[in-house]
Parts: sequence; C-alpha cells; structure tokens
Amino acid sequence: GAASSPPPHVAVVAFPFSSHAAVLLAFARALAAAAHAGATISFLSTASSIAHLRKAVGGQLPANLRFVEITDGAAPVPAAAAVPVPRQMEMFMAAAEAGGIKAGLLAARAAAGGARVSCVVGDAFVWPAAEAAAAAAAPWVPVWTAASCALLAHLRTDALRADVGDQAASRADELLVPHRGLGSYRVRDLPDGVVSGDFNYVISRLVHRMAQVLQRAAAPAVALNAFPGLDPPDVAAALAELLPTCDLLPLGPYHLLLPTDSSSSSAADPDGCLAWLDSHPPRSVAYVSFGTVACPRADELRELAAGLESSGAPFLWSLREDSWPLLPPGFLDRGGAAAGGNGLVVPWAPQVGVLRHDAVGAFVTHAGWASVMEGVASGVPMACRPFFGDQRMNARSVASVWGFGSAFEGAMTQVTVAKAVGELLRGEEGERMRARARELQVVVASAFAPGGECRRNFDKFVEIVCRV
Ligand code: UDP
Repeated sequence: GAASSPPPHVAVVAFPFSSHAAVLLAFARALAAAAHAGATISFLSTASSIAHLRKAVGGQLPANLRFVEITDGAAPVPAAAAVPVPRQMEMFMAAAEAGGIKAGLLAARAAAGGARVSCVVGDAFVWPAAEAAAAAAAPWVPVWTAASCALLAHLRTDALRADVGDQAASRADELLVPHRGLGSYRVRDLPDGVVSGDFNYVISRLVHRMAQVLQRAAAPAVALNAFPGLDPPDVAAALAELLPTCDLLPLGPYHLLLPTDSSSSSAADPDGCLAWLDSHPPRSVAYVSFGTVACPRADELRELAAGLESSGAPFLWSLREDSWPLLPPGFLDRGGAAAGGNGLVVPWAPQVGVLRHDAVGAFVTHAGWASVMEGVASGVPMACRPFFGDQRMNARSVASVWGFGSAFEGAMTQVTVAKAVGELLRGEEGERMRARARELQVVVASAFAPGGECRRNFDKFVEIVCRV
C-alpha cells in the first residue's frame, strides 16, 4: 500500500552536449519542485557537463535534487578539451551502451542511501537508458527536447528512406504527402541523417537507434516539448499511431515549467542586455542569436553584420567571442553601445529575458527548437537561418506551417538580412507574422496557467514517474 512504499527515486539522464543538458536540468528542477514529498531526483550527467551546469545555475538547486556523475567514455588521458565534440559524443554513447548508464543508476542508488531507482526519466537521445532502466526493473520515460514533427521524422526514418532512396537531391522540393503528419514538409526539410547527409554521423545513428528503441520499449509516457494547438492534429495522430502504448504528453516549452526564471535576473546578465533594451522603444530591436553550436562562415557573418547595419534597426547580437575577429573592420566600434551606436554585441545574452522584453520586435535565429519556442512564448516573430540537424524542419514549420516568421533560402546576404529585419519590424507581412506569434503566445500562456493543458500534462507526467 501507499503508506508502506518507499518514496520515489527518479533518475534523470541527460545528454551532456550542446543545449540538451541545460534543458533537461530545467526539466528536472521542475520535477523536483512538483514531485511527491520525500521524492529524490538524481540528475545523471558527465563530470564536465555537471561542472558547466553548476556554474550556470549558481547555488539555486532544490534540496531533493542531486547530481550523479556518469562516465564520458573518454580514456583517462589529458587534453579532453581537444577532442572534437562529435568524437566526444561517440565516446559517451559507446560508454553508455556498454553499461555507463547502468553504473550511473547504481551510483545514484548508493548516493541515496540505497534507495532503489523507481523510474528513469531521460533525454530520449540517450537510448541506452531504456535497457539500464529495464535491468533496474524501473520504467523508462523519455523526454523529447525537439519539435514533435522531428520526432515523427525519426520514427518514420526507415519508411522515408525506402520512399526517397538516393533521390533526396532530385526530389528536394517534393512534399512528403504520403507520410502522415509530414505533408507540409519537403524532402529537403527533413533533419540531417534521415534521408540525406551522413548516415554514419553520431547524431544520425543515435536518433535512428533511438527511434527503434522507442518503438520497442513500451515507455508509459513520452514528454513532448510543444503545447497543444501548435502542431496540426495529424502530427499527434501519426505519433500516437507509431507509439500506441505511450501517453504522449505535450507539456512544453519546458522552460515555462519552472516557476521563476533565474536566467532573466541581472546576475545572469553581465553585459547589461536588459538595461540596454530598457533604453529602446517597444518592438524596435532585432535580437540575433544562433544558439550554442551553429556558426555562420566568415563571409556570411560579414553579410549579416552589414545587413543589420543597413536595416537601420537597433540590434542585440549574441555572438561567441571567437567570432568577433571575423566581423567587418570597425563594426564593433561603430555598433558598440558604449560608442553610442545602434547595436550591442555580447558573447552570451539572457535569451529568455531578452525575448520577453518589450523592446524586442524581431528575432534572427538558427531555429534551434528551444529558441523557436522561447520566441513564440514571447510573441516575437522571427527570421530563420537554419544550419543543420532539425533546424531546417523547424524553419519550415515557422515560415510555412505556423506563419510567425520567415526563412532565408540558404546563406544570408546584406540585402536579405536588411529586408527580413525591416519586414519583421515595419512591414505588413511582418505585422501578420507578429499577430500570429501573439495568437500562439496566448495559447501558450493559457496552457501554462493553473489548470491549463500543459500544467495538467505535467501533473500527469509527475504522477507517472513518481509511481513506485
Ligand atoms: N541561449 C542563451 N543565450 C545566448 C544564446 C543561447 O540563453 O546568448 C540559450 C537559448 O535561450 C536556448 C539555448 O541557448 O535555450 C539554445 O538552444 P536551441 O535549441 O535554440 O539551439 P542549440 O544551441 O541547441 O543549437
């Protein structure tokens, strides 16, 4: 009976790369806040990922959440930092498959005074967690961090490959009408590694394997990083058909699950982005960011810089510092806020807070999923320059399915940047895109209000993962 069962011990397994681990930690913190009294949350990630996350969240970890280290698979020799990220991912996944997650669950149990892990929640990317959970007689409940249509594409990979074969290039503009839920997307919009690109790239192999494991694992639930009403109904229907035994729970954007957002505090804004925005009128500023991985080539970066200047709009640009030397001569001095210019370039911006700021009227983005969701949750229309992975598919959704933004065809140029930014801030089409973004902002807000659909789905998720 409930009175005698031990409190839940939920292990949360991160994919310790790019923005994935931070998204999952936010999710785990929400779980820790919502879980039954006495529940323990063990957050499993690699040592370097944990160090990074600790720094990012500061001291604000809930008392019932504990970090537990899992192996990164790297040989114990120096210079780990010199290993290219794809190789690090390969080593991590190989180690995870070879027992790294199982060992992590044992370590979590030991750290919790012997309390057995009652459920394994995990970034769906880390599919070996399914087997580790089964070995611990615990359910595996995956968390999907990207778009639902991307999950659908991965689940349909074999069928899509059988259909498209080696004609991905010649049929690039063909709509995927025969594939339920994907009819608005062209062959060219599919994530890398589904029908084109390098099938042997670590992420391509990982998501393909993940799709197979998901369809076999009979997970009780899958968390989806979307809100009801975002995708056309046939996306959910197609997913339900492919994962018939799972409770598919749209409860995103995940960053809204946390009651307060520490990233919008001034402590997380060392370059004063929010104060700079305060000095600008509503909807006047273009915010530019390509996330944590993507980086335009030098020539495209210069085109973008010139386009922002010629748009005449004030801009806030989050750009990693190693790219600053690639900017046009004098650009930083001309644009620097300190120099009284039109722009502010920073190495990192508190993006969620920035997008929420009234002054921001346009978002130039790589269409990473978290960024798209953060933009729409704030009602900001966007211009998408997708680079790799699922970004093309997200950009297609934004421009052609949801209509709250535009997409660049290929690389940005000075002319297309100035045009896209001007349109979003001042054009009629831009006004329609903003109206559409605002409509969805309202839908998000009500889904996250008390009793809203995302709240209810999260409650259900918590209920499922806290069963002992
Ligand atoms: N981000 C941020 N400040 C920046 C750049 C990015 O806070 O200056 C955050 C952004 O809010 C988002 C994440 O980093 O949550 C990027 O995730 P996304 O899925 O958009 O792209 P990825 O980095 O995975 O390509």
